[in-house]
Amino acid sequence: MDKLRLATVWLGGCSGCHMSFLDLDEWLIDLAGMADVVFSPVMDAKTYPAEVDVALVEGAVANDENREMAHRLRAATRYVISFGDCAVTGNVTAMRNPLGLALEVLRSVYIEGGDLNPRIPDETGIVPTLLDKVLPLHQVVPVDFHLPGCPPPASRIRLVLEALLEGRVPVLPPEDRKFG
Ligand code: SF4
Repeated sequence: MDKLRLATVWLGGCSGCHMSFLDLDEWLIDLAGMADVVFSPVMDAKTYPAEVDVALVEGAVANDENREMAHRLRAATRYVISFGDCAVTGNVTAMRNPLGLALEVLRSVYIEGGDLNPRIPDETGIVPTLLDKVLPLHQVVPVDFHLPGCPPPASRIRLVLEALLEGRVPVLPPEDRKFG
């Protein structure tokens, strides 16, 4: 049987969901026998590849780079998973939304809150442009499965990956259907 082509993607999140993935500990060795990780922040891959079977997508869509990556991965992936509460609802990343649109938030932080040389960072091609509102992943591209938790515990991640490796649609038991 061909190995599963697995990607993990880091959008607007704190990387805690990826830390929880690493908490799979010794099961990662079993996983390596069943899946090839073809794209991930924990490896040196610059370009999202074609024909990915499963993508675990951490973080909300907060800027133009996140949005571009969301569309790119959706086009090249069979099964897209919103990985963690920020991807599922916006969660921590979306806490800026009630403060106003992007420019208002940037002004408040970098101009009103700045001390020496207040200035909004704006290096083209280096600093991504904030979206006016942070969005959960499913509001940008279709998502196949929501994996909640902040972060999702390793046991919940394993449950979902095991189902996919066995060709089953993952179903979370009631105790795993919760945020936080
Ligand atoms: Fe971090 Fe929690 Fe968001 Fe995951 S869901 S990126 S752990 S804040």
